[in-house]
Amino acid sequence: MLENMAFFLVDLMLLRLGRWLRLIGQDVAIPNRSFSDRELLQKAKTENRTLLTADKRLAEECRAAGVDCILIKTFRIEGQLEEIEKLGIPLELDPRRCTLCNGPLQKVDCQELATWQCESCGKLYWKGSHWKKMEKMLESIRDNIDKSNINDHNIDVHSIENGSIDSNNINNNDIGSNTNRNTSSNIGSSASRSAGRNICNGICDKN
Ligand SMILES: [Zn+2]
Repeated sequence: MLENMAFFLVDLMLLRLGRWLRLIGQDVAIPNRSFSDRELLQKAKTENRTLLTADKRLAEECRAAGVDCILIKTFRIEGQLEEIEKLGIPLELDPRRCTLCNGPLQKVDCQELATWQCESCGKLYWKGSHWKKMEKMLESIRDNIDKSNINDHNIDVHSIENGSIDSNNINNNDIGSNTNRNTSSNIGSSASRSAGRNICNGICDKN
């Protein structure tokens, strides 16, 4: 387990994983252009982030430079998330970070739907159909991990019964929240309560 797990940097090869990590509450920097290896190393070092990369050579460079780095070995997103879970990060949706810009999410006062707004870019998130799909995918991965832990020996740990979900669809304002978790209380809600009501009405109208 790593101590510095709250701050990540992913390279562009792991863009999709980066978005999923934001969905499960992690602070993830994603370069908005192609960074050189040197730039990635520098950014990780400067911002004290753990670099996630699928590039073995880059991972070795990181270690040589004393930068925290995790080599992701799996190609499919389900397998990548299993690797993340094994590092001690729970695979549960946790609306703290904007999937677009990584800005902190603020709870918006809404009676009908749990709703959040990005403090940085203003993007809105609320509980919708994609929430359940993503929950199901994470649940499936967790089940798979449990099964492999029980059987312990070389089961096909990457077989996912429900198939994969395209995380590119995550960007459509529909990620929602997990109402059973306490984490939303950490987001806070006082700053934009009055604005939130108007936003809430708009969302509720759509649903
Ligand atoms: Zn944002």
